[in-house]
Amino acid sequence: MTDPFRASGPKIIAVANQKGGVGKTTTTINLGAALCELGQKVLVVDLDPQGNASTGLGIEPEDRELTTYELLLDEASLDDVILKTSTDNLFLVPATVDLSSADIELIANEKRSFLLHDALRQPAMTAKNFDVILIDCPPSLNLLTVNAMVASHSVLVPLQSEFFALEGLSQLMLTIREVRQSANPSLRIEGVVLTMYDARNNLSQHVEADARANLGDLVFDTVIPRNVRVSEAPSYALPVLSYDSGSKGAKAYRDLAAELIRKNEKRAA
Ligand code: ADP
Ligand code: MG
Repeated sequence: MTDPFRASGPKIIAVANQKGGVGKTTTTINLGAALCELGQKVLVVDLDPQGNASTGLGIEPEDRELTTYELLLDEASLDDVILKTSTDNLFLVPATVDLSSADIELIANEKRSFLLHDALRQPAMTAKNFDVILIDCPPSLNLLTVNAMVASHSVLVPLQSEFFALEGLSQLMLTIREVRQSANPSLRIEGVVLTMYDARNNLSQHVEADARANLGDLVFDTVIPRNVRVSEAPSYALPVLSYDSGSKGAKAYRDLAAELIRKNEKRAA
């Protein structure tokens, strides 16, 4: 099998949308698990002070001693911040509420936008052999999200299939453009993925039609359905792929992972 991600270190993808509750964390966890099923070694970086990705992957707050915060400030080694999860080949840098003060604390730091970029490119990273790094962003366009965009090759945007979904995108696109013009000229948009899609709901169909008309190829063919198993899985500390492997949600995230790999192979060819 060709390996679209390994050519020059891990492929780094920021999962971002400044709206909360649109499926960023759910997509990070489950796309990560699905990529693992396809043989990739994946690191999830929890960049949200709410720490939902950490909880969803089974790392309790009391087990989050060294976190993304220490990683950003270069106060801990990779070996100390990278934790195993219950999914083979899926690793996590956890977050706690500590991260919420980073925004203010870092204002005076000249390299404040490059901290994650530098942390993920430190020499010790090479030996870890990750294929993909997924960064679960907070629901804002603050310094943390900018760090994610500066560190990443691309941005993956979950778009909830609901009214006004597209309105928020222009602000996100503006931030991506600003990061391109300053710190990271090669930042791409990996794609927009529709989440919590309800095929019986006209609104979902409208949002999809709108998104495809406006964003064209940027929208993934794969659509993530609203599926109760997806929302139950985090309380069992599992990706839906292990919680209910045969569920519609699990299948959709497998499709998304396959589509992502396909697109990257095409681009590399
Ligand atoms: P964000 O990280 O963007 O704030 P989350 O991934 O936490 O969003 O999702 C918000 C809520 O929606 C969570 O309770 C999650 O379980 C639920 N959810 C996300 N995707 C789905 C889905 N496909 N089906 C059902 N519930 C979902
Ligand atoms: Mg989240």
